[in-house]
Amino acid sequence: MLTYISVIAPIFILLVLSLSIAKDIFYFLRPLPCEYRKILENYFLYYQRLSPEKKLDFERRVNRFIRLKHFIPRNLEKISDEMKVLVSASAVQLTFGLNEIYLTHFDRILIYPNSYYSTVNRRYHKGEVNPRWGTIALSWKDFLEGFEHPTSAINLGLHEMAHALHLEDKIVNRSRSFLNEKLLDAYKELSTKTIEKIRNDEDNFFRKYAGQNEEEFFAVSVETFFEKPEEFLANHPKLYHIMAGLLQQDPLEVYMSVAA
Ligand SMILES: [Zn+2]
Repeated sequence: MLTYISVIAPIFILLVLSLSIAKDIFYFLRPLPCEYRKILENYFLYYQRLSPEKKLDFERRVNRFIRLKHFIPRNLEKISDEMKVLVSASAVQLTFGLNEIYLTHFDRILIYPNSYYSTVNRRYHKGEVNPRWGTIALSWKDFLEGFEHPTSAINLGLHEMAHALHLEDKIVNRSRSFLNEKLLDAYKELSTKTIEKIRNDEDNFFRKYAGQNEEEFFAVSVETFFEKPEEFLANHPKLYHIMAGLLQQDPLEVYMSVAA
């Protein structure tokens, strides 16, 4: 009887394990629901500009991002499909040139209806990334405003995802150090100089907030990179090329591919 159990038990455990793995694989392989794709088609400018093949890859990544995160409503009744899709698409836009980066450390996304009071530093926030809790928080009102003015270089979604990306690169996990180190060094050198110039009013290309510190400069650079690429290239060509190298994509190519 004992031998019988010792043979059957491992087989049973293996069977249960393989069924659970198969269920997970199936879960992640399911295509992006049609209603989610429609949201991208209607509202997400970056997606609209991609080639058909790249659109498929973008959809796959958005799908995976959605399935990997817990979306938590704060002072909201529920999380809408638009919230899930557009927030995830902002992260995918930023990481689209990189090899499958899903900001895994940040597995909870908190959405507030508008700016909220943070008990951490007793100030109102539009968004926040907290590596200690693995959270990304966003004010939905301010997130949407980023979409209403696509060339303003103010985009809360990209801004907060840029903070998360910068941190994710340093956090010890499977996807650590995915940003090219040499380029990061070159970026740091240039950003330090530019921050100094912003503070001394010698450079007014980036908005003043970029002069706060290196993290804010990175987040504002990302917003500007995607929303004012031509002006960025004309004003700060070296920095633009470093950004393109770090993110392994060039927004100007995305725009030109549509014009062609
Ligand atoms: Zn910031």
